[in-house]
Amino acid sequence: MIIQDVAAPGQSGDGEAFVRRDHMLFIGGKQVPPVSGQMLDVEDPSSGEVLGRVAEGDKADVDAAVMAARRAFEGPWSEMSPSERSRIIWRLADLILDHAGELATINTLENGKPIGDSLNGEVPFTADVFRYYAGWATKLNGETMTVSAPGNWHTYTRREPIGVTAQIIPWNFPLAMLAWKVAPALATGCTIVLKPAEQTPIGALRLAELAMEAGLPEGVLNVVTGYGATAGAALSAHPGVDKIAFTGSTATGRAIATAAIGNLKKVSLELGGKAPTIILPDADLDMAIAGAASGSFFNAGQSCGAGTRLYVHRDVYDRVVEGVAEQGAAMQMGAGIDPATQLGPVVSKKQQSRIFRILEEGRDDGAEIVCGGFAPNREGYFVSPTIVGNVRSSMAVMREEVFGPVVCAIPFDDDGLDEVARAANDTEYGLASAIWTNDLSKAHRLAAKIKAGTVWVNTHNFNDVTMPFGGFKQSGWGRDLGAQALDLYTETKTVAMRLP
Ligand code: NAP
Ligand code: MG
Repeated sequence: MIIQDVAAPGQSGDGEAFVRRDHMLFIGGKQVPPVSGQMLDVEDPSSGEVLGRVAEGDKADVDAAVMAARRAFEGPWSEMSPSERSRIIWRLADLILDHAGELATINTLENGKPIGDSLNGEVPFTADVFRYYAGWATKLNGETMTVSAPGNWHTYTRREPIGVTAQIIPWNFPLAMLAWKVAPALATGCTIVLKPAEQTPIGALRLAELAMEAGLPEGVLNVVTGYGATAGAALSAHPGVDKIAFTGSTATGRAIATAAIGNLKKVSLELGGKAPTIILPDADLDMAIAGAASGSFFNAGQSCGAGTRLYVHRDVYDRVVEGVAEQGAAMQMGAGIDPATQLGPVVSKKQQSRIFRILEEGRDDGAEIVCGGFAPNREGYFVSPTIVGNVRSSMAVMREEVFGPVVCAIPFDDDGLDEVARAANDTEYGLASAIWTNDLSKAHRLAAKIKAGTVWVNTHNFNDVTMPFGGFKQSGWGRDLGAQALDLYTETKTVAMRLP
């Protein structure tokens, strides 16, 4: 029903008209042309056609944006009361919902995902994240300490904003990833230079406009569109940036951490995943099959929590694999903007080629394509839902983050939990995992054994703004969301006063 609103006059039209413009950088509250004069094309992944153009920001533009962010940090933003900050963030959440159809349309056009997922999932979630952190702006308290040294003391801590933050985000959830980073930074009183992904920069530009409409002072949120290797690298190395927050691949995370060494800016990283899904024989199989299928194929598998290694007890293995294959095959594939679509394209030709390369390597090594594994005969960067069997843990398809609707299926035999836990943990990643069982004891014992930042039980890809999200091992540093994200954007200052 809500989906129809998108097609209502004005709404999707506004989104499409916005996308098709030439977009400048957003620095100091204004549209600013890039110093180089270069623009880059944004593609529609469902057709390969050019949707619109954005400025190609580079080092000189990053310098200007960092300066604007510094001025705002030292000026109007630091002078505002927490309550006023809170009201602005809350107003932005209202504006996001007022423009839900428009934002969903932009998000779907540039990313390719189903419009229903944008409109009923990502956009309301984005608003929710801003609302939650609007509440935190007025609750950032320090502590008083009781010291044991002789004499009289008054000691306390203050939580102060880190300062100018750089935020580099990926294309898989362009609006949600923005909110996960921008909302806690605003709540704590930081200012921001945001670099969205080259594939999906337009939603961020519209959101920055809405933030101004909500009353955000100029320069608090700046958006520099451009490439990672240039604009992104300049931000990571910038001596005027106090903190960098990143979501994306582990390889790029490593490059950012290295670049950040120069001024030892604070770094938080939410990186790749290779989530195991474990189905125990006692699970409600209908629920587990539906959950595993959506866990692997949702967002065309382009989710850092996507279920990519499906461990199924041998007693129920055939039934589960057949069921997941059926659910995959039944997904209606198409352009995201078509309300009937359940599975959109992957984001780019490059991603599509990478997925097929990894599948091809697996095949050469003896893996078996149980279903899917092909590009349907149509325009755009589509990948059919794919299950890979007969895999070994050394294969690229088992080790690398594939980021497509691709899942490896592996049977296991034991009724104890150690063998399956060991297999599930046999990865350099540790972001998310899912367990399907009705046995409470096994659920909790297995949850304790899995080395991952999130364990879902009888659900998959469930994120709530209150729940910290991030990685063990090479899946990252720090936690987004929840109260923990506030730590990423604040410094603790200790004040110790002797009372003579
Ligand atoms: P990526 O390189 O990690 O890109 C993420 C963001 O980092 C983009 O904004 C990107 O800019 C920027 N970036 C790239 N190189 C940079 C550098 N040297 N310094 C600073 N910023 C830089 O990911 P990708 O190339 O789009 O995708 C490759 C693979 O990464 C995917 O196949 C997937 O496995 C993984 N990935 C994971 C996630 C996740 O949430 N875990 C999200 C996206 C991708 P550009 O847009 O210009 O590259
Ligand atoms: Mg890249």
